[in-house]
Amino acid sequence: MGTMKRIAILGSTGSIGTQALDVVRKHPDRFRVVALAAGSNGERLAEQADEFAPLLAVLASGEPPAGSGLASGAERIVEVATHPEADVVVNALVGSVGLVPTLAALDAGKRVALANKESLVAGGDLVMGRLGDRADRLLPVDSEHSAIFQCLAGNRLGDVRRILLTASGGPFRGRARAGLAGVTVEEALAHPTWRMGRKITVDSATMMNKGLEAIEAHHLFGVAMDRIEVVVHPRSIVHGIVEFADGSCLAQASRPDMRLALQVALAWPERLGGGAEPLDWPAIGSLEFEPLDGAAFPAVALAFEAARLGGTHPAVLNAANEEAVAAFLGRRLDFLGIPWVVERVLSSHAGGPPTLEGVLEAERWARAAAMRVIASRT
Ligand code: MG
Repeated sequence: MGTMKRIAILGSTGSIGTQALDVVRKHPDRFRVVALAAGSNGERLAEQADEFAPLLAVLASGEPPAGSGLASGAERIVEVATHPEADVVVNALVGSVGLVPTLAALDAGKRVALANKESLVAGGDLVMGRLGDRADRLLPVDSEHSAIFQCLAGNRLGDVRRILLTASGGPFRGRARAGLAGVTVEEALAHPTWRMGRKITVDSATMMNKGLEAIEAHHLFGVAMDRIEVVVHPRSIVHGIVEFADGSCLAQASRPDMRLALQVALAWPERLGGGAEPLDWPAIGSLEFEPLDGAAFPAVALAFEAARLGGTHPAVLNAANEEAVAAFLGRRLDFLGIPWVVERVLSSHAGGPPTLEGVLEAERWARAAAMRVIASRT
């Protein structure tokens, strides 16, 4: 039997964080929670602290409930990311605020189970540079990247010809661009297959999520962008495919359940019971795949372009997208305005060095530029 792993979770009250705690709850003999950090949901964090008895629980913003014993302050998130008792840090923060805690956890020698794709998009070179020859310290939690990671196990990266990321296509699959003009926040949040937080659900509707995932895969697996492709697979059963030099393809399949990707990352290289419910292959019958509609979903090509430009361009793409999604959710921007804003901001970025200071400065610039562009759209 394996040893007990001690877990810290950043973003414990969100969709991924609560599902990580489901995995811990299922395997109390294997995982113990030592530290938790959450954004502003103090009630939920207090409940989690009661149940899991972490050594430290930090509420980033707002007042902790009276008598809860929660610590508070955004600056203390890094204490959770680097907690001396933690072996594995689950980073389930939303947005590029996840970058600095990811770097801090790796610098402290932790293994990181990364659900925060934005930290690899914004700071991929920085994050991967921290790993040196210990690439096994970074484990993907995104379902597509968990799939690719599992397909690559035991194979040589040099033999990879293509990586295919599958996309459900989101709630607007099959619509032409003209049919996306008036879609509402409620329609964008109604994802057909995955249960996720609001930001990533909108990213799935624009398909920017798949663009961000392509950049994430590029960094995680060291594969050039022109060897990464997106294929639409509405049922979300095959999560990723690796094609090797000899033409052989390996694919990973399961019911769409993030708890499987979390469990794989936490337990790797072991396989624990109680993961996804088994697939009933005869009942599935067929697996459909279709091409991406690049005209309806230009966000994917924008992400590939940002990655090809390199430097701080991916960070700018991501920050502009975060601002545009927030504006859409706040009903200050229309749906097609999201990629429009990102394209405008990206095309006016002069570029810069992808150092931590360079990335953070580029993000500040991109957020300000995005707000100006959003205000200009009528
Ligand atoms: Mg994903």
